[in-house]
Amino acid sequence: MSISRLASSIQESPTLKLNEAARLLRVKGEPVIHLGGGEPKNKAPITAILGSAAKLNTGEIKYAPTDGLPSLKKAIIRYTEENYGRLVAPENVIVSTGAKQSIFNVLYTLIDPQDEVIIFAPYWVSYPDMIKMVYGIPVVVTPEDGTFQPRMQEVEQAISSYTKAMIVNSPNNPSGVAYSREFIAELVEFCERKGIYLIMDDIYHKLVFDDVQPPPAYEFTDQDVENTRVIVVNGVSKLYGMTGFRIGWTIANRQMVSVMANVQSQITSCPSVVSQAAAEGALTGTQSLVENLRLTIQNNRDIMLNELGTFSDVTVTKPHGTFYCLPDFRAYEKDSIKLAQFLLEKALVVTVPGESFGMEGHLRLSYCGSVKDVISGVGRMKWALDPNAPNEIYIGDRKLIRDWL
Ligand code: PMP
Repeated sequence: MSISRLASSIQESPTLKLNEAARLLRVKGEPVIHLGGGEPKNKAPITAILGSAAKLNTGEIKYAPTDGLPSLKKAIIRYTEENYGRLVAPENVIVSTGAKQSIFNVLYTLIDPQDEVIIFAPYWVSYPDMIKMVYGIPVVVTPEDGTFQPRMQEVEQAISSYTKAMIVNSPNNPSGVAYSREFIAELVEFCERKGIYLIMDDIYHKLVFDDVQPPPAYEFTDQDVENTRVIVVNGVSKLYGMTGFRIGWTIANRQMVSVMANVQSQITSCPSVVSQAAAEGALTGTQSLVENLRLTIQNNRDIMLNELGTFSDVTVTKPHGTFYCLPDFRAYEKDSIKLAQFLLEKALVVTVPGESFGMEGHLRLSYCGSVKDVISGVGRMKWALDPNAPNEIYIGDRKLIRDWL
């Protein structure tokens, strides 16, 4: 077989790989705890289910307009007006098969070979590979002070004449950190002035804690949607726990949306109409469930921080959003891949190595599961790693004895 150089250079998504490893262990009956997950465990909103069921009942499940069903676009326009304070036109909206495809299509539409795209470490695992898939070059800005909060000076140092775009994800997967209002304001001003596209991956923007409110980037620009360099990506996956429906969207200027539609028309034709009906149901239904989800996750975050606080030597930056945190485990093991493998093997706990997010020595832990999983999962990790923890533990009905510390 002769696989292309580009395709061979693309890595499997480490998070999806871990999901599979955990699934296989569970199939074998192993009591695995998944702290690597990236989806809330709530059921899809009833309005989403009814919306998609009604669509299915018509029996008319056909191709739809490439850029999305007009009724879903209408719901997205209302969402954008309510949450971003911007009234956009249907021609500014394109629906895709998940925010993942939205981001890929944005990059495909903007990037020429060798163009540089700035991303901020820790970054979402998929950004570097997506940028490489369009022959662009990922340029990573790593906050030097260990806060996960980048500074403008660091961004300016990374700029070159090839810089075409930046991707910002706040609150951030994997750290849970929400970037400061000042930083977002500075970035928007800088990108507008320099003509650099600012891709805002807002997929977690409502899953925020402690009254932190990440400001919409639009707030800091006077340019209208046709002229701004700000591009917004969002979706229903995290907001409503609807990851399996695969619906995301992009808000951008008309020209960009029409080129993205051409691109999409050659790849997927259109997102599934059943899923679009579900997304419309979720967006137009009662929104109190988003608040309930947010409160449940905030409570899980507090429990996760509490449990991590009982380790002798783990430091963690308090997350203000998402359902992840990125504790520093360097006191126990510097190689995060080795550490994650060790924890899976010895303690049957799935974690995601920080190396995949550009933050070696850290592990991404999710608290989107149950409180029991958070407490038992971190308890098992402590047993496996911390010499101060008791050296016996029960996993299921098996008594395990630690003999490696
Ligand atoms: N951006 C970030 C930061 C994410 O964490 C994810 C999902 N893990 C996505 C985008 C993609 O979401 P979707 O399910 O809508 O493709």
